[in-house]
Amino acid sequence: MKRKAMLIDIPRCENCGACEEACKEQNKLPENDDNGLSAYTYTKVREIKGHNVRRLCMHCNDPACLSVCPVNAFTKNPEGAVVYNANRCMGCRYCMVACPFGIPRFEWDRANPKISKCVFCFSRISKGGQPACAEACPVEATVFGDRDDVIKLARERIKAEPGKYIDHIYGLNEVGGTSVVYISSVPFGQLGFPTNVEPVPLPQLTWKILKQVPNVVTLGALMLGGIYWITRRREEVARFEEQQQKEQKERETR
Ligand code: SF4
Ligand code: SF4
Ligand code: SF4
Repeated sequence: MKRKAMLIDIPRCENCGACEEACKEQNKLPENDDNGLSAYTYTKVREIKGHNVRRLCMHCNDPACLSVCPVNAFTKNPEGAVVYNANRCMGCRYCMVACPFGIPRFEWDRANPKISKCVFCFSRISKGGQPACAEACPVEATVFGDRDDVIKLARERIKAEPGKYIDHIYGLNEVGGTSVVYISSVPFGQLGFPTNVEPVPLPQLTWKILKQVPNVVTLGALMLGGIYWITRRREEVARFEEQQQKEQKERETR
């Protein structure tokens, strides 16, 4: 099985919403007016400084979310999809802290909440199909295929129109490579993408990073405390998520 990938071509995107609609339909997600990703919105296009930036899980080659999950709720499939088993989730939300792209979301409004995120339409791609969002894009701003072919296409588009694109494929090397890669007309840092991620798989660094978050270490020690720990963790992570969203907004307005 060849590793798959999806190219997001930011300058081509017309913010038509077809990918968002297709994702909602495919995953039977409720319509809402979320301004960004949420437990019920796996992909969102937002206009940032005049550029249409579509976000979804990056499906990292070596996912940090998977490496920190204490109950193995995440799986990296041979096609490249990082899928999530809600039945295993115990609600610790380590994955939310570990993800360098701030992707996993939590069902705060549910009595028994779980994490949720894009699953790369695994049910479709495992049968040789393409993700619903890629199929729906009318202008090939989202293109799915074998990772090698997708990278080749990205290089061709950059080479064909050097005035339109900067010479950088985001996700080719970041965090050891991802299955969702981007091309852009401006440096990715200007669009809120983290630029301080290292070109090595994050699991090698995850605990180094998590150790920089004092609450995580403290709470890790409390893990055996069971329900009490989980209740406290919910409050801690709610604060962390708020801070994370604030930092993302700051990056985008810089
Ligand atoms: S982007 Fe985040 S949630 Fe998605 S695979 Fe990578 S670490 Fe996991
Ligand atoms: S790959 Fe599937 S789940 Fe992910 S954003 Fe596209 S349509 Fe939604
Ligand atoms: S369907 Fe294509 S052009 Fe429309 S918003 Fe999504 S990525 Fe952009």
